[in-house]
Amino acid sequence: MTVATVGAFLLGEYAEGVFVMLFYQLGELFQSYAVNKSRKSISDLMNIRPDYVLIENSDKELVKTDPYELSVDDYFYVKPGEKVALDGIVVEGKSSIDTAALTGESVPREVSEGSEILSGSVNLSGLLKIKVTKEFDESTASKILELVENATANKSKSEKFISKFSRIYTPIVCISAVLLTLIPPFVLYLFNGEMNIKVWIYRALTFLVISCPCALVVSVPLSFFAGIGGAGKNGILIKGANYLEMLSKVKYIVFDKTGTLTEGVFDVVEINSESISDEQLLEYACYAEEYSNHPISESLKTLFKKPLDKTRISCFTEMSGYGVSAKIDEKNVLAGNSKLMELKNIKYSKCLSAGTVVYVAVDNIYMGYILISDRIKSNVKETISNLKKSGIKKCIMLTGDRKEIAEHVCSEIGIDDYKYELLPKDKVSYVESLKNERVETDKIVFVGDGVNDAPVLAMADIGVAMGALGSDAAIEAADIVLMDDKPEKLSIALKISKKC
Ligand code: ADP
Ligand code: MG
Repeated sequence: MTVATVGAFLLGEYAEGVFVMLFYQLGELFQSYAVNKSRKSISDLMNIRPDYVLIENSDKELVKTDPYELSVDDYFYVKPGEKVALDGIVVEGKSSIDTAALTGESVPREVSEGSEILSGSVNLSGLLKIKVTKEFDESTASKILELVENATANKSKSEKFISKFSRIYTPIVCISAVLLTLIPPFVLYLFNGEMNIKVWIYRALTFLVISCPCALVVSVPLSFFAGIGGAGKNGILIKGANYLEMLSKVKYIVFDKTGTLTEGVFDVVEINSESISDEQLLEYACYAEEYSNHPISESLKTLFKKPLDKTRISCFTEMSGYGVSAKIDEKNVLAGNSKLMELKNIKYSKCLSAGTVVYVAVDNIYMGYILISDRIKSNVKETISNLKKSGIKKCIMLTGDRKEIAEHVCSEIGIDDYKYELLPKDKVSYVESLKNERVETDKIVFVGDGVNDAPVLAMADIGVAMGALGSDAAIEAADIVLMDDKPEKLSIALKISKKC
């Protein structure tokens, strides 16, 4: 553009020089408008889920606070599934942490008292008390920028092609323009002795302008960026253009159940205790679940209503896919599904009623169960049928829950297939086997919400996490986040991707 404009001025074609620059500037203006709009949509998304840390208040309760309020040597807590907001040293608790986001290392690291822990890593199993070593100077703004930059780093195939193309195309055009100014006048001079170089400079400059690859080179990444921005406006966070592109080739969608297809808000249907009162059974369960962020735990705690005395709880661990264990007044309390009871060799009487069951054992003696039930999210049925209409070959549901519930949910919403009583590693191996069966171009999406879904989210072609109810671990591992947890947003994302 610069060469053409300067050339036009030198040739005395002022109007043409001015127009080249005007059109160029106009293009730039549209581009910056589109980029800023997308940037804003993305940063608006980030505000929906603010950063927080848990600290202990004067009543020994864990409350959420702004991480900016903490200074060096303060203490804060991190529950399983949550992201560590500030750098620090572990002073209490044992857990494994996922540092994949920081180091790219996918094997969880074990931490205990005295271990150093970095912000951005995700706590996977136990409750941790951490002493702050660095303040929260990593502002949200810089995180958004990081995100936007990362989004552009994950280039789509078409973007990669176009940048490769321009690397070859641009020099060829420039060299051709130079040759066009030199060779024809020289050849003509040899034939009839005329030297009309001015005409040929003019022609070469025209050639330069019309073959300028700007539009082509800019259009591809800009379309993707606009697509990511448009998705952002709909509450869908897409972490890179490659995912947006791949989404249009999706043929298999694998869903998690609890929290993804169902609300994850449970009502208690029945409490059945053996040797203690129902109230006591619920109390044990709630104490054991206190530090868990699993939807089951949240629901039990809302039901119990009474405040819990945290000083009675120690040694909390969460076994994803099984349940929880904690020490309450020197008693070992377990709360979880039948697999947990079998794992710990506890004799229990199986509950056959429909619903999710939380079995409770104290000091390895079975105490009774709490039967709870969940609701299917609204619009799920329509979403599944819309997805099928838009060309999805198969929808599958994977759950850690029992067969009866899986069956019930599937028939209710019209999912093709289901697998039940799965542990996190079973979900991974299911998606792995699906990956081996399918044709390479048929992409697989996994949609989930929990800590237990993080490994599958990372290994599926595209991982989609629930942003509101979902754990930090899931959000971190996912490629796309539905900020308002609505499954119907998935079909909107597919539409945007196809359009893009
Ligand atoms: P899903 O795969 O359907 O989302 P999860 O894998 O989160 O379900 O949980 C699987 C099963 O493990 C649950 O149905 C429940 O029986 C048990 N479970 C997991 N976490 C807990 C917990 N905190 N308390 C009690 N039970 C739990
Ligand atoms: Mg779940």
